[in-house]
Amino acid sequence: MLDALEDLYADSGGAEPLDPPTRFVDREGENDGRSGVGDGDDKGGGPRCPYSEKPPSPKPPSPRDDSHRVPPSRYDQGLIAPPSVDPERLPAPFVGCGCGDCNVDPFGNGGTPVTEVCPTPQPMTRGTAREVYRRVVGSNRETPNRTSKVESARQWYANLLDGDAYLRAEMEGLTTVLVSLRLSPTDDNGKVVTPWQLTEDLYANVGAVMDSLRYSLGQKHDFDFEYARITSGTRQWVTPHLHIYCWIADPDDSVSPEMFRRPVAKHVERCSRASWDAHDVVNTDAVRIEHDPLLATRCGDEGDGIDGLRDVTPTRGVVYVAQQMPHLALAGATEPWEIDRAVAAWVSSRQWVSTSEGFPDYGDVQAFKETDDDDS
Ligand SMILES: [Zn+2]
Repeated sequence: MLDALEDLYADSGGAEPLDPPTRFVDREGENDGRSGVGDGDDKGGGPRCPYSEKPPSPKPPSPRDDSHRVPPSRYDQGLIAPPSVDPERLPAPFVGCGCGDCNVDPFGNGGTPVTEVCPTPQPMTRGTAREVYRRVVGSNRETPNRTSKVESARQWYANLLDGDAYLRAEMEGLTTVLVSLRLSPTDDNGKVVTPWQLTEDLYANVGAVMDSLRYSLGQKHDFDFEYARITSGTRQWVTPHLHIYCWIADPDDSVSPEMFRRPVAKHVERCSRASWDAHDVVNTDAVRIEHDPLLATRCGDEGDGIDGLRDVTPTRGVVYVAQQMPHLALAGATEPWEIDRAVAAWVSSRQWVSTSEGFPDYGDVQAFKETDDDDS
């Protein structure tokens, strides 16, 4: 289930400053209310993670209904969310006919929304949703549209790399840490769980993880630090996982893996899909510490549309996490799993990219760049 780190810190290629993105300051544990219905869990229907603070279910799922989960060989036929999720809470392009009699065009060419004609609208299958994403988001991209998901992702990309350069310059003795939290994509019967549910499980305890991280680094060890949190999906089955990339002022190189054990435990011990096998803070890639962060020689892949940012030299770690952002999918990369990752992010009500409150904003970065120009 681990996505290998074979491409970790792989070189990537140049980019130019973009408009400031809409900022999502970290509000972990919160969502816009679209979530809250379980996946019809094998162990009794409720949320998998026992300490979840999900809002009450408006429509409780049947505990034994897991027909929307499929064996890996039928991956494309699996639904993107459990049928128990209220269709009104899902993005309209990804809601399809559930009765089989409506004859509606899944690509929205019929005019009438499926929710108005179908008595039982339901989340689409992965295969259909992938095609819808290609057409819907792809067509948006053909017209200049600063608010499109692809454009927004690019702006985020630039913001993360700019912020990284700023923090590298401002923090004394920068240490970076990449914390990665994962879970199993299959249930006890070996069936692949919906991306919507996996994201819910991943986020169920993220508030506790972040609280613990802030306590450990900030209060207990008195570090000055910032972070960016990015959800990605693996190549295999697009299993959502969290990357928390930390910039820490650490002049004595005293940041250690032990400082992350309790934050990581908030995820592993509370989420039944997570295990210590993948999260040992010393012997796995769950906590990767760089006291002397490697720098990127390129900022993006050729053809991915991120062809500026020539004036910053980001750490390789930030390029690694930024490149995993969903919705960069159509900016050059069109592998099915990359589209599936973008679909999963869109279907989920969770914020897949966010930063700490003190992360440099557009104004900080511009002032920093001007000072830098004056100096040179
Ligand atoms: Zn129907």
